Amino acid sequence: MSTPRNDNRLALLGGTKTIDQPFKRYNPIGAEEVDAAKKVVESGVLSQYIGGWDPDFYGGPKVKEFERKCETYFGVKHAITVNSWTSGLIAAVGALDIEPGDEIIVPPFTMCASATAILHWNAIPVFADIEPDTFCLDPHSVEANITPQTKAIMAVDIFGQSADTEALMEIARRHNLKVITDTAQAPGARYKDRHAGTLSHIGGYSLNYHKHIHTGEGGILVTDDDELADRLRLIRNHAEAVVGPMGKTNLANMIGYNFRLGEIECAIGITQLDKLERLALGRQRIAERLNRGLSGLKGLKTPVVREDCTHVYYVYPMILDTDDLGVSRARIVEALEAEGLTGLAAGYVNVHLLPMYQNKIAYGSRGFPWSSDVCKREVDYSKGICPVAEKLHDETFLGFAMCLHDLEDADVDLIVAAFDKVWRNLEALK
Ligand SMILES: *Cc1c(COP(=O)(O)O)cnc(C)c1O
Repeated sequence: MSTPRNDNRLALLGGTKTIDQPFKRYNPIGAEEVDAAKKVVESGVLSQYIGGWDPDFYGGPKVKEFERKCETYFGVKHAITVNSWTSGLIAAVGALDIEPGDEIIVPPFTMCASATAILHWNAIPVFADIEPDTFCLDPHSVEANITPQTKAIMAVDIFGQSADTEALMEIARRHNLKVITDTAQAPGARYKDRHAGTLSHIGGYSLNYHKHIHTGEGGILVTDDDELADRLRLIRNHAEAVVGPMGKTNLANMIGYNFRLGEIECAIGITQLDKLERLALGRQRIAERLNRGLSGLKGLKTPVVREDCTHVYYVYPMILDTDDLGVSRARIVEALEAEGLTGLAAGYVNVHLLPMYQNKIAYGSRGFPWSSDVCKREVDYSKGICPVAEKLHDETFLGFAMCLHDLEDADVDLIVAAFDKVWRNLEALK
């Protein structure tokens, strides 16, 4: 690895690039996964599920082994695998006895699927703002958005650390609400002495290709509630055909899917789970090195980690004070990218501003469910409802996707050198 260059001229303005080779791609898949997958393929049984009331309603041996292993690791009563975390979120909302028109509070600073899972059951997403330093759902904004229609809160453990789940659970107790946590980006993070995602009624993790550990596609639901676990397993696997023989009388949302994760993915998941702690520690080590290197730069705020919690850095989140810098975020990103840095994101997501919400067109073309009488009030999705999330997205948030690369210390030092060089040349960027 090369040492940082001395050329002080920005690459954007004709100088030498700080990073002249792409970093190694992040790849947690190794020989163990190949072996695990091979054994399943050789067995000829790539999935053993049956969509009926049968011992195989719960899946084959690798599904069960992976789920029991997840229960031990995450410290939960039930772990339920699904074929994506998007499927997991849909199952989670359906499991909560949600009625069409019920409101569920969700942050806008998240992947779109958190909110779409709500709409999926004709429930209404209500967007509450986020905390300015952790980017997670702000409990005060949640309280302010509760109406008689509110039935649940969906918190998102964004970028790799937990939302303030205890505060959200306390609000939920007072208002008789349920809480779902979307911990797609934070498997292995701790909230005090427990795993992020395990303090709410239903939580869970994504196993897609970009996440800390993956099975290609996949997800894991976790809950300590037996009844919710039954409902999640039913929605996963053709509920309507199974409720009768299983003896379930609550038919609400017992619309089943095929959300089943196969034997190959679960066999890979078993080996992946063994690596999670080490992978998460690796991300923390990189983040600490970045913190040390970047914390002296004016107008740049390094990540804030909630007290007594840990962060596993799916994204390394930064905030720019563009007034203090006197240079726009776009210009800074342009300069950093010219230095050879990839994986930067200027802004993140404001889900409430997507066309679906702005036009209130989801099912069909006539505005269902918002236009129907299941929706009890006019829900506001206009720009301005989440000022913190909007300002971060539009002006000040700068993310670095830690999920893309396997970074050595020397790579981190090059990243720091690139930032350093851009900061030394802010005048030239004006
Ligand atoms: C990745 C992700 C999802 C969706 O997970 P998939 O497994 O890709 O369906 C949902 N929410 C958040 C916050 C995510 O990062």
